[in-house]
Amino acid sequence: MNEIDYLRLSVTDRCNLNCFYCRPDKNLVQLPPKEILSFEEIVKFLNLATHWGIKHVRVTGGEPLVRRNIVSLVKMLSSVQGIEELTMTTNGLRLAELALPLKEAGLSRINVSLDSLDRRKFSEITGCDELGEVLRGIAAARRVGLDPIKVNMVLLKGFNEEEIFHFVSFALENCLLVRFIEHMPINEIGGKRWYIPNTEVRERIQKKWGPLEPVDSSPGKGPAHYFRVNKRQPTLGFISPLSEPFCDSCNRLRLTADGKLRSCLLSGFEVDLKGVLREGAPRETMKELYEKVIRNKPKHHHFEFPYAGRFMFEIGG
Ligand code: SAM
Repeated sequence: MNEIDYLRLSVTDRCNLNCFYCRPDKNLVQLPPKEILSFEEIVKFLNLATHWGIKHVRVTGGEPLVRRNIVSLVKMLSSVQGIEELTMTTNGLRLAELALPLKEAGLSRINVSLDSLDRRKFSEITGCDELGEVLRGIAAARRVGLDPIKVNMVLLKGFNEEEIFHFVSFALENCLLVRFIEHMPINEIGGKRWYIPNTEVRERIQKKWGPLEPVDSSPGKGPAHYFRVNKRQPTLGFISPLSEPFCDSCNRLRLTADGKLRSCLLSGFEVDLKGVLREGAPRETMKELYEKVIRNKPKHHHFEFPYAGRFMFEIGG
């Protein structure tokens, strides 16, 4: 069993984008505010979880930057003893305005999800004509030193695959880490219709730029494999849950915005942490639940029956 030291903390199920493969129906029911963990409840849990091994917390959502007073939450989290790294995954839409306060509040670095560098295509995928704002957000994050910035691109067959080269150039020109992510058929949205194996993506890149040189020490302990293009910085990462599964090295848990602790994105198993937090249950009860989640960590993803019980934006991608 791997050491579990990484928590993906979803702070809201709301999002200001509607990517068709993630949050397809604009009218999806959203959680009532009273169902969402308060800042104090999150911190109470983390003050325990850091004793049980959690060292890295990644704030996510929905879209974390739409949670009211998110900067205050980041400040509270960065003061929790034992959190060695505090990071965030965002769509970048509010980053231009928030990069500096987030940095000052103690955020170490940031990942930005961006699936297209073409304005029309970006609007088609997200339902929102705001590519310029995301690019301004990335520039602001660089200015304030939320480094290294990782740009995550989910490849969607027939939609944005012609932009692979554009993203490689974007990485090289801006000294960013671009990571190509295989689309997962969660809850059967799209099935495997948009899936392109990363092996194929690497081949396409090598045909144009020459051999990619693997980098042994990845920045961060995550599931990506990193490569150098033309002996430059490690500029490209590949996250391949379907073609190169990384369950063997998985070190993470997930806490949903409504306080369910999950051991895996794709297993429906979760426990109600919010209930015990609100009952004021003793530390031992919380620890039992925590250990139960770890014991129920599946050995492998099951993409043959990809039913996660919830959508990606509800779990926290
Ligand atoms: N709003 C934040 C963001 O955009 O990064 C955090 C939440 S979002 C759900 C996290 C990531 O999950 C995004 O990069 C999104 O593209 C990715 N994602 C959503 N559905 C996916 C799927 N079926 N397969 C692979 N990645 C997915």
